[in-house]
Amino acid sequence: TYVVTEACIKCKYTDCVEVCPVDCFYEGENMLVINPSECIDCGVCEPECPAEAILPDTEDGLEKVLELNTKYSAEW
Ligand code: SF4
Repeated sequence: TYVVTEACIKCKYTDCVEVCPVDCFYEGENMLVINPSECIDCGVCEPECPAEAILPDTEDGLEKVLELNTKYSAEW
């Protein structure tokens, strides 16, 4: 799955939301998040993010971020 990192905070763009084929972006407290159980790992959103906030969760040190994405997207 892909995750949205803290770099998203206060970003006003929603280009990522528009390109996602499965609509798995949700509003977190002050940033967007991706629902890990809905993301199909297509990678389309990654280059669309102007804040470079979207990363594959296979990168190191993203455990907390994945938790955050899971938590916020579950509240919907
Ligand atoms: Fe949506 Fe694809 Fe990005 Fe996952 S990787 S959030 S499915 S655009």
